[in-house]
Amino acid sequence: MILADALCLDPDRVRRADVRVEGGVITEVGGQLEGADRVDLAGRWLMPGLVCAHHHLYSALATGMPFLPEVPRSFTHMLELVWWRLDRALDLDSIEVSALVGGVDALRRGVTTIIDHHASPNAIEGSLGVLDDALGRLGLRRVLAYEVTDRNGPDGARAGLRETERQLARGAGPMSATMVGAHAAITLSDQRLRACADLARAAGVGLHVHVAEAVDDRGAVRRLLALDALPPGSILAHGVHLADDELRAAGAAGAWFTHQPRSNMNNAVGYAPLARMGDRVALGTDGIGADMLAELQAGYFRSQEGAVGWGPGRWMQALDAGQSLAGQKLGVTLGRIAPGHAADLVVLDPAPGPPLAVENLAAALVFRFGSHLVRDVMIAGEWRLRDRQVVGVDLAALDGRAQVAARAVWERMATRG
Ligand SMILES: [Zn+2]
Repeated sequence: MILADALCLDPDRVRRADVRVEGGVITEVGGQLEGADRVDLAGRWLMPGLVCAHHHLYSALATGMPFLPEVPRSFTHMLELVWWRLDRALDLDSIEVSALVGGVDALRRGVTTIIDHHASPNAIEGSLGVLDDALGRLGLRRVLAYEVTDRNGPDGARAGLRETERQLARGAGPMSATMVGAHAAITLSDQRLRACADLARAAGVGLHVHVAEAVDDRGAVRRLLALDALPPGSILAHGVHLADDELRAAGAAGAWFTHQPRSNMNNAVGYAPLARMGDRVALGTDGIGADMLAELQAGYFRSQEGAVGWGPGRWMQALDAGQSLAGQKLGVTLGRIAPGHAADLVVLDPAPGPPLAVENLAAALVFRFGSHLVRDVMIAGEWRLRDRQVVGVDLAALDGRAQVAARAVWERMATRG
């Protein structure tokens, strides 16, 4: 297939060109490519598919859930009041609906890969398989993990590890990979953190864990290091309250950080030490949908207010880091419109305005782009969103199913507490 006459937007190169896609990969980019099966993009914008580096798809049915019974006194108290009540109310059906609802949202935002962190203490067995299959039906690339935790007792923790092993045994490929998930150092015993790290090392994958999201979890990296529980390639989500020695040590251990500015603001946990986190910082949403452009924009404005020193170019780099991180986990090359890179591409309707160039692309991402421009999404050479319609999904039927599942989840939250 040839995507003809596209304005190709790479962070380091902007040019009008034709793009040849064969076998799910970009094989040629240039002027006047010959071949049948042409799609004329007529100068529309083309950019690499976006990556959400830290998501919780299980929260897709949360909007409208019962309001807080009391004002949370701390971050941990809020987890108890809201998120842990929600995850306990999930069953395999609502997990599947959440994945489909969240996956459809991702496609419409131009997201082609989701790195998810899942929890469902009353439906652990088979949960990652359900997520994997649902996202697979939408054609999304995914990196899955189950949040192992001791907060539901040792049996719950062991079940989380077993589910991880089960999913690891399904095997990894360019569309789906598994990491070992751990909720956060505060909810895991030393023994359990070691078990998670041992499993991650044995499988050759990293740990995906929340660290120092709030003051309650201060010292998390120091503890992981003391337990020898930070395997290379791990994802440390948030890191808002990490001390300088922890930031340096995590960097030296080859860990990635993910930054979720909207979630941090929503939970009032504080401001992450972005300027001291090094180069391996990717962006996530922490379950607040999958709109990576909105996340980047919110993050940029908050960083301006905080005088952090991250200009638009640094934010574009963080978006780009998600491509490297996801590519590493899936064993594919992501993030550029160039030969040898996966054909994960987003077609956008141009927003009329000044000519786009390498020099102003980052500023345009902040001030001009938005997911309302997303028109088509291709993943591994297959159209998954075409003319703004999700391919192969009956949205009315999904909406009906989501409404039933959401009410059932909220009912369980209200009755089980
Ligand atoms: Zn999270």
